[in-house]
Amino acid sequence: MLVGETVMNAATITTWMNGSASSIRAERDHLVQLDAAIGDGDHGTNMTRGFDAVVRALDADDGLAPGRQLVLAGRTLVSAVGGASGPLWGSALRRAGRALGEEPTFGPEQLVAALDAALAAIMDLGQASPGDKTMVDALGPAFGALREAVAAGRPVREAVEAAAAAAEAGRDATIPMQARRGRASYLGERSIGHQDPGATSAALIVRALERAVAQER
Ligand code: ADP
Ligand code: MG
Repeated sequence: MLVGETVMNAATITTWMNGSASSIRAERDHLVQLDAAIGDGDHGTNMTRGFDAVVRALDADDGLAPGRQLVLAGRTLVSAVGGASGPLWGSALRRAGRALGEEPTFGPEQLVAALDAALAAIMDLGQASPGDKTMVDALGPAFGALREAVAAGRPVREAVEAAAAAAEAGRDATIPMQARRGRASYLGERSIGHQDPGATSAALIVRALERAVAQER
């Protein structure tokens, strides 16, 4: 490990999950409105219930390695959330946690591998491709930007900032798309012109990761 290189640990994951929960809670009504326009209007309540449960589960189980924390977070989301987003984010975080394993700390390359595994889990389970107007359209560009920045040797803080910006651009890019997966796909062309709720919450979660990593020394 180079001197000055950011080392991430269990506190990073706790801060990330707590920050995700508070952003999602603050945006709950907006997420509900977005889902009411092209789905069934439960995305804000689903995600708030899920991430509040994650915060409680992590709080109750102190001392876990970062990978174990993510596995617990994923399991909690699957059991707390009924909508599509619960199993999708649940398997994403479980797969990310398994990629991190049992080590007490992790570096930028392991973060990249964990998030690539998370996206692969979402795509395996949900079968969405880029351009289908789902959370994949925020997470694909985000984790791609992270991977490229880390491969280019940029500091991990800059890499997560690039990821958060790419997630937000990807979220905005869902507006003109026609939905091809999930409930919004039932609307066909009428889904065009609306921002995808799942891409919107995904951008909040990547922005929370950026804030969590920025806090590390
Ligand atoms: P539900 O659609 O069951 O009501 P939510 O409202 O919580 O679940 O989540 C909707 C979001 O989930 C969508 O905006 C979309 O981003 C995401 N989503 C739905 N289906 C898929 C899928 N097959 N693959 C990836 N993401 C999906
Ligand atoms: Mg919904």
